[in-house]
Amino acid sequence: MSKDVISIPISKEAIPKLQPFDQELDAFLDRFVMEAQKRGIKIDSLHKLVSLNYVDKLSTTDDPAVIAICKRFYTSETSLEGFEIETEFIKWLSIEVSRPAITSFLRSAPTDTAENLKFLILTHEFIHCLFNVLHADKGLMYTSISSTTPWGNDADSVSQILDSTFTREYLEGIPVAN
Ligand SMILES: [Zn+2]
Repeated sequence: MSKDVISIPISKEAIPKLQPFDQELDAFLDRFVMEAQKRGIKIDSLHKLVSLNYVDKLSTTDDPAVIAICKRFYTSETSLEGFEIETEFIKWLSIEVSRPAITSFLRSAPTDTAENLKFLILTHEFIHCLFNVLHADKGLMYTSISSTTPWGNDADSVSQILDSTFTREYLEGIPVAN
């Protein structure tokens, strides 16, 4: 029994207003950066993340099964001397977590599992946004999860899942987002 977790809309919008990050989610982000660094993976796009917050309703989908989204805000430049070259730059990133969806998803999990699951869901989303990638056919970046067997074997601990996620081989194998 699995659920589609996350969609990745691409958005061409004005630069969003900077908002203070939700404290709980910000702590997950700190842990994400630390766990990545511990395994030799550097995150160099943190400055692009301008919002990390819970919402009552996701801004880009009505699907109640979607827990979180990474929004990408583009600007483009057109150039040059008769050639039409349009280059898009990702300027800003914003993460929304649906409070009703995540609450409902975690309801049946024991508290310690729920905290771990929540961290893994956020890690999945941070990787979408901060590494600019889509979904993989296995592992943490697989498209959907179940609350009983999140991303792999029952027996896998969070640190085992992170070990297999934060490797260059795994991260470079995920299709890049346009
Ligand atoms: Zn996803």
